[in-house]
Amino acid sequence: MKISNNAVVKLHYAVSDSEGTLIDSSYDHEPLNIIQGTGYLIPGLEQALDGREAGDTFEVDVAADLAYGERFDEYVQTVPKAVMEGVDDLQVGMQLRATTDEGEQTVIVVEVTDEEITVDGNHPLAGIDLHFDVEILEVREATAQELEHGHVHSEKSEEDGCGDSCGCDN
Ligand SMILES: [Zn+2]
Repeated sequence: MKISNNAVVKLHYAVSDSEGTLIDSSYDHEPLNIIQGTGYLIPGLEQALDGREAGDTFEVDVAADLAYGERFDEYVQTVPKAVMEGVDDLQVGMQLRATTDEGEQTVIVVEVTDEEITVDGNHPLAGIDLHFDVEILEVREATAQELEHGHVHSEKSEEDGCGDSCGCDN
C-alpha cells in the first residue's frame, strides 16, 4: 500500500541540520506513528512521504519554510523581569508560557539580566533547513475511530477502542 492521505504510517527518522549535526532521531526510542495528511508532520516531510511504501528508505532535504517556518526577529522580546513575577530562578534555556498578541505561546528564555529578560517565541527549529533520513516500517489504512480522533491507536487499543495508551480523552 502506498502512502496517501489518511494512511497510518510507522516510520523511523533521523533529522539533522544543513551542517549534518543530528537534531533528533527516533532510532533511540520508538518509531513514530502518524496519520498522513493531518499536519502532524512538517509539510515538507508529508510531501516526501506521499506515494512511498513499507520498506522504503530515503533522504530528503526540507527547506525552513516547509519545516518550522522562517525566523521572525519580532518574536524576540525584552521585557522587565517584573512581568515574569512568580517564575522562580529564571534561567537561559527555560521554556515559559507567555501571553502575546498571537495568544498563548511557548517562549524560550534567551537572556536574563538584573532588570530584564529576553524571550524568543520562534520555534527552536525556525529558520533552519533540515535533512531527514527516513525508513518506512509500516503503512495501513486508518480506522474510522483513528480518523475521528485524529491520532493513531496502538495495536492493543485497537481491540478495546481508545485505550489509556493513546492518551485520548474520548
Ligand atoms: Zn483516541
